[in-house]
Amino acid sequence: TRERLFLSERLHVMSELSASVSHEIRNPLTVTNGFLQLLNRSTNIDEKEKGYIDLSLQELNRAERIVSDFLSLAKPQAENMVSSDLKTEVEYVNNIMVAYSNLHQVSLDFHFSNTLTKKFDQNQIQQCLINLYKNGIEAMKEHGGTLTVGISDDGKHIVITIKDTGVGMSKEEVLRMGNPYYSTKEAGTGLGMLMVFSTIDKMGGKIDVDSEKGVGTTFRITL
Ligand code: ADP
Ligand code: MG
Repeated sequence: TRERLFLSERLHVMSELSASVSHEIRNPLTVTNGFLQLLNRSTNIDEKEKGYIDLSLQELNRAERIVSDFLSLAKPQAENMVSSDLKTEVEYVNNIMVAYSNLHQVSLDFHFSNTLTKKFDQNQIQQCLINLYKNGIEAMKEHGGTLTVGISDDGKHIVITIKDTGVGMSKEEVLRMGNPYYSTKEAGTGLGMLMVFSTIDKMGGKIDVDSEKGVGTTFRITL
């Protein structure tokens, strides 16, 4: 199924809210995490108490993930704006995602060519690509597979494709993707695709998805 994905006003409200809230919450999370780790090293607590600390740390990490995903929904920041070739960004993300893909028996296959120069928020583009890489790899973690990433331009638009051979989605699932908190994963936040759609929308680009259950998914970003 090939669906043109639409964006809603909701994205703009979310992005306004997320920046301020996320920054404020991050510090107390970091501090609490540090003290709990210290406590965990104590020699005069029993196994049951250690269990409580582990659970608390686990939940804190979950909160940290949610905050990170929210942060990346935030508005483009002036200090992050760069004018650059998108190939550099994709290459960077590719390099930092190698370990995660190896961990899941996924090989990365990339086809890069130099592209037009564009002005964009570097953090957001990177976060957006990381989310797409992560989802692709996570879709293949049961049986492994190949994540094929390509970037090129047609003289006018930059086209990035990210293709996995993972679980795939039904037409209904494709439509639900990007709804805040919609996730089919145990530890998912359901914020990754919201961030992706929001970023591409802000850049005036479009994103198409082609997915088939049991076969895989291809995202095509046109900027
Ligand atoms: P999360 O990854 O935390 O679950 P996302 O917003 O990134 O949240 O993705 C939402 C949901 O969309 C996922 O839980 C999954 O069901 C579906 N999805 C996204 N990308 C893919 C993909 N490449 N293959 C299969 N399903 C996907
Ligand atoms: Mg995700």
